[in-house]
Amino acid sequence: MNSMDQIKNQTDEMLTQLSRLIRHNSVQGPATEGKPFGEGPAAALKEALDIASELGFSTVNMENYCGYAEMGEGPDIVGIVAHLDVVPAGEGWDTDPFTMTRKKDRVYGRGVSDDKGAVIASLYAMKLLRDSGFPLNKRVRLLMGCNEESGSECMKYYARHGEPITAGFTPDGYFPGIHGEKGLCAMTAYSKNTHILSMNGGFVTNAVCSRCVTEVPLTCVDAAKLEAALSKTPLSASSVTVLEDRLRIEAQGTAAHASTPELGVNAAAYTMWALKEAGMQDDFVDFYLSHLGTDCDGSGIGCQFTDAYGSLTFNNGIVETKDGVIRCTIDIRYPVTLSSEKLRAMAAPHLENAQGRIEINHASEPLFYPEDSPLVQNLYHAYVEVTGDTSHKPMVIGGGTYAKSIPGIIAFGCEFPDTDNHIHDVNESLDIHELQMQTAIYLKALENLLADH
Ligand SMILES: [Zn+2]
Repeated sequence: MNSMDQIKNQTDEMLTQLSRLIRHNSVQGPATEGKPFGEGPAAALKEALDIASELGFSTVNMENYCGYAEMGEGPDIVGIVAHLDVVPAGEGWDTDPFTMTRKKDRVYGRGVSDDKGAVIASLYAMKLLRDSGFPLNKRVRLLMGCNEESGSECMKYYARHGEPITAGFTPDGYFPGIHGEKGLCAMTAYSKNTHILSMNGGFVTNAVCSRCVTEVPLTCVDAAKLEAALSKTPLSASSVTVLEDRLRIEAQGTAAHASTPELGVNAAAYTMWALKEAGMQDDFVDFYLSHLGTDCDGSGIGCQFTDAYGSLTFNNGIVETKDGVIRCTIDIRYPVTLSSEKLRAMAAPHLENAQGRIEINHASEPLFYPEDSPLVQNLYHAYVEVTGDTSHKPMVIGGGTYAKSIPGIIAFGCEFPDTDNHIHDVNESLDIHELQMQTAIYLKALENLLADH
């Protein structure tokens, strides 16, 4: 029997196991004794380790931060790094998010795709590999974290207390694999002197500021000129209201993820642009436009940079005013061939002048494996062998995946190209044929990684 037939024979059992994981609402909760992420993640971990143990794997619970199922022998560890925590279900589901429900060839429930389905696909890939008699000259370890969605503290704990992974993948991204993830850098810009009374907008650092409300003294700018300036911007809506001693400007832009800020319209940036265009003389308006600006490419702080895999992106997500100081968050995604050290050096001469200043809060390194590296090739070949798809290639992305939380791995699946499982959304679902394909691909990937010396 070929491996796909074997997987089909075990699909009902796999779905039963998946439903056991789905019924635990494993959203992060308040820490209790021995349960750093609360009751839900710990219960999901216990269930997963029970399933793994029933399937004949040795299991370890690492203080409810994470746990693993393992087989094989030897010093090397081929790792699969999945997670059992989920994001909150949210309102508007057609079915109970914590009772896995099948409709024709799809199952619905929070986590069926991200990432509990991947846990089951990985476990059954391990089982099929073991039962096939394939020589297990290395250990294969399925690591299951309990805090991927809220900071990946689970993998920080593993990095301190567990053995390093020799090579492997996380089934928490896309096929046919993500061989590069841009570096991240967070900065904050501060005003020094400004006439702006208040400016507030945006709600998260990792999205374009899509709405912004600003108040300036009546004496600083002419309302009619400001309205004319606003009408020249790509803002989808704007208004200027004359209040007693001030103008209130409401600007509506377009949201976009911070990794693709060029797809959005920044409400704060275009408010600044319109204030300047209308003739307002102000230190922080000038500083914002020269240092942050509307271009989203980092050119204002000397960081414009493009390599073969993409360009640096620059996003102002939140603007807040407190005690007369305007504060703007900056989310930078920098290309995989740049280092945080180089980025800091490029930015350093541009971070402060008499009109404002920018602070670097933190910077993390990119993740990058060349496309022709053994890890990327071993995984990609498994994908091609099972799917026959050679049109999609391993990719580089601006977002960060679980792969960044532990060395030696890249993201590989579990979402297929051109599919949308509504991950993090209502009615998250998984096509049963895709679950079978994932299992077949992970089986082949494990064979390739075990055979590689
Ligand atoms: Zn995930």
